[in-house]
Amino acid sequence: MLNLLFPKVCSACKSVLLKTEEILCTQCRHNLPLVSHYKTGNETMKNIFYGKIPIEQATALIKFQKGGITQELLHNLKYRGQEEISYFFGKWLGKELTETEKYKNIKAVIPVPLHKQKLKKRGYNQVEGFGKEIAKALEIPYYDDVLIKISKTKSQVFKQRFTRFQSEEVFTIQREKLIENKHILLVDDIITTGATLENCALELLKANKVKLSFATIAIA
Ligand SMILES: [Zn+2]
Repeated sequence: MLNLLFPKVCSACKSVLLKTEEILCTQCRHNLPLVSHYKTGNETMKNIFYGKIPIEQATALIKFQKGGITQELLHNLKYRGQEEISYFFGKWLGKELTETEKYKNIKAVIPVPLHKQKLKKRGYNQVEGFGKEIAKALEIPYYDDVLIKISKTKSQVFKQRFTRFQSEEVFTIQREKLIENKHILLVDDIITTGATLENCALELLKANKVKLSFATIAIA
């Protein structure tokens, strides 16, 4: 009944979805600009971090295009409450990664965290569904309490002027025993410059003998 009154529409083009379709209509799904580094062996994303931090693998699913359906999707995910988009892409990539040798020894998934005030405002972390579905597919834990985003204090602002990472974001690690000696998949919704993932990675790499890989929904 609800479905008749409020038919589900494609998150990208707003056409009414068929029963068999989820989030996207078949045409939009077909038109998604897939990059799928995990499958092609394309190292574009990995190369962003070359010489900066040691990482095992890095992959995105789709290419972010301004004005395109990818922009619409990410905007809906981030600002219009369509959290289900995150789960949709997580299920997709999760299934693919179970069939990809290089990702098989990953032992936990960790999301790029939101600051607690931002989380309260948005109501959800836009990468949570993505990370949880990947963890479910790989049958490994999802930890959202190991990496925390904190407020920057004045002394940190001062200190950061003298480091090579002049970022506005401050992350910190806790319960690091959980990830010691493990290969961890750090997930985010989109990678642009790579600065966020890099800042997160620098924290996670403080854990003893941790190995890192990255996965994002989109790459700009
Ligand atoms: Zn569509």
